[in-house]
Amino acid sequence: VVNKMNEAKQLLEEGNYYLSKFFKYLILGGGVAAGYAAREFVKQGVKPGELAIVSEESVAPYERPALSKGYLFPTNAARLPEFHVCVGSGGERLDPNWYEEKGIELILNTKIVEATLHSKSLRSENGRILKFGALIIATGSRVIKLSDFGVKGDDQAKNVLYLRDVKDADKIIEEIRVKKHGKVVVVGGGYIGLEVGAALKLNNLSVTMVYNDPWLMSRLFTKEIAEFYERYYMSRGINLINETSVIELESDSSGEVKKVKLKNGRELEADFVVVGVGARPSTRLFQGQIEMSRGGIKTDGLFKTSIDDVYAIGDVAWFPMKIYNEMRRVEHVDHARKSAMKVVEGIMAKGEVVEEYDYVPYFYSRVFDLSWRFYGDNVGDATVVFGNRNPRAKKPKFGCYWIKDGRIMGGFLEGGSDEENKAIENLAWHQHKVDDLQELKDKAQPTAT
Ligand code: FAD
Ligand code: NAD
Repeated sequence: VVNKMNEAKQLLEEGNYYLSKFFKYLILGGGVAAGYAAREFVKQGVKPGELAIVSEESVAPYERPALSKGYLFPTNAARLPEFHVCVGSGGERLDPNWYEEKGIELILNTKIVEATLHSKSLRSENGRILKFGALIIATGSRVIKLSDFGVKGDDQAKNVLYLRDVKDADKIIEEIRVKKHGKVVVVGGGYIGLEVGAALKLNNLSVTMVYNDPWLMSRLFTKEIAEFYERYYMSRGINLINETSVIELESDSSGEVKKVKLKNGRELEADFVVVGVGARPSTRLFQGQIEMSRGGIKTDGLFKTSIDDVYAIGDVAWFPMKIYNEMRRVEHVDHARKSAMKVVEGIMAKGEVVEEYDYVPYFYSRVFDLSWRFYGDNVGDATVVFGNRNPRAKKPKFGCYWIKDGRIMGGFLEGGSDEENKAIENLAWHQHKVDDLQELKDKAQPTAT
C-alpha cells in the first residue's frame, strides 16, 4: 500500500496525473465499443470534461479486426492511426486529437485493478482513483491460454504468441521478420487460426494449423462449408491437422520454442507458434458485485446492469436478444459498435422513451481473396447449401441456410455482392418461411428475398 501511495504521489508531483478525479460518464476499456460510445456521446451532446475513457492499452480505440488481417500483411500493411474507430463501419476516424477537441479525457496505459461499483469508484494499478456518475463496462475479452488447459511449456516459451491487441500483433510481426521463411504452428482452427494462418502464409512462412475439432470453425461452419475452406487452405500450401490438441511446447535453452507435441503422438517443428483457442469475457473485476452468467454481465435491453448507473456493452454483455427471446453474449465487432450506440442513447435520453436493442447477429471474415458473411442463428433441423464450392474456381460463390421449423434462421454467403449480402440479412431478420426444402435447394439464389 505504501509503495502504491508513493508511486501515485510521485506521478502527482510530476504534474502529469491526479490522484482522484470524478467524471459524469466513465467508460472502462478502450476498445471498439468504447470508441463508438464516445462518438455517440458527442452526437448526443456530452459536454467537455464530462466523459473519460480509461484503458490498459497505449492507443486510442481502434478497429480490432484489422489486427488479424491488414495489420499482418507483408505489403501495404494497415497501421495506426489509419484504423482508429469508426472507419470500420465507414464512419469518421477518431484519432487522439478528436478526443482532445471534444474534451474527452483518454486515460491510456492505465489498468484498472479494483472496481467498487456501489461506491462508484475504480482504482488503477498505479494508484489513481476514478470516480463516476455512470460507468460503462467495455472490457471486452481476454485470450484463453494453452496453459489454462494444462499444456506444458506455454508460459516458459518466448515465442508462443497470442493475439488480442496491437502489442500482441507487433510481436507476431517481429517473429515474421526474424523467422523469415520459417515454420510456424498455428494452434486453433477458429477465427484467429483461420485469419492469422492465412496472413502468415502471405508472409511466405510454412504454416501448419492444429485444432481439436473435426473441421475448421466448427462453432459456425457446417461440414460442407468447412470442406471448402479446408481444400482452399490446402491449395494455398497450408497443412491442416484436425481432431488433436497440443499437449506440450518444447523450448531450447534460450527459451525459443522448437517443438509442438500433439496428443496423437505427432511432433511438429516450429520456429514460433501462434495460438487462438478462444476468448473469455474480461469480467473478473466485477465478480460478486453484479449479476453475471457464464462469465458475462447480465443487462437489460438498454445495457443496464443489476447496479444503478452501471452499464455493460460489447463482448462482456449478456443481454436479451429479442429476436430469439433469449439471453446471449456476442463476441463480434458489429454488436460491439451497435450496443455502444444503444447504451449511450439510453443514458442520454433525458426522459424520452428509447427502444430496446433489437439485433440479429452478424459476423464476417476475410482471408486471402475470400470474404464471407453470416447473419442470424446457425441452428435448426436442416441446412441447405447452394452455389459453387469449388476452391479452384476463379470466384467461388456459395452459401448455406439453416432451417428450423420451416423458417430460415441463419444465412451464410461466401463471395456475395452487397445486394446479395443484404438479401441474406433480410432472410435472417424476417425468418423467411420455407414451404419446400427441395424447392429452396433448387432455386436457392442469394438474391431471392
Ligand atoms: P475490446 O475491443 O476487446 O476492448 C476492450 C478494451 O478494454 C481493451 O482496450 C482492453 O485493453 C481494455 N481493458 C480490459 N480490461 C481492462 C482493465 N482492467 N483496465 C483497463 N482497460 C481494460 N469481430 C468481427 O465481427 N469481425 C472480425 O473480423 C473480427 N476480427 C477480430 C480480430 C482480432 C485479432 C480480435 C482479437 C477480435 C476480432 N473480432 C472480430 C472480435 C471483435 O474485435 C470484438 O468482438 C470487439 O473488439 C469487442 O469490443 P469490446 O469493446 O467489447 O472489447
Ligand atoms: P474460437 O472459439 O473461434 O476458436 C477456437 C479454436 O481453437 C477452435 O478451432 C477449437 O477447435 C480450437 N481449440 C480449442 N482448444 C484447443 C486445444 N487445446 N488445442 C487445439 N485446438 C484447440 O476462438 P479464437 O479464434 O481464439 O477467437 C478469439 C476471439 O476473437 C473470439 O471472441 C472471436 O469471436 C474473436 N475473433 C473474431 C473474428 C471474426 O469475427 N472474424 C476474428 C478474429 C477473432
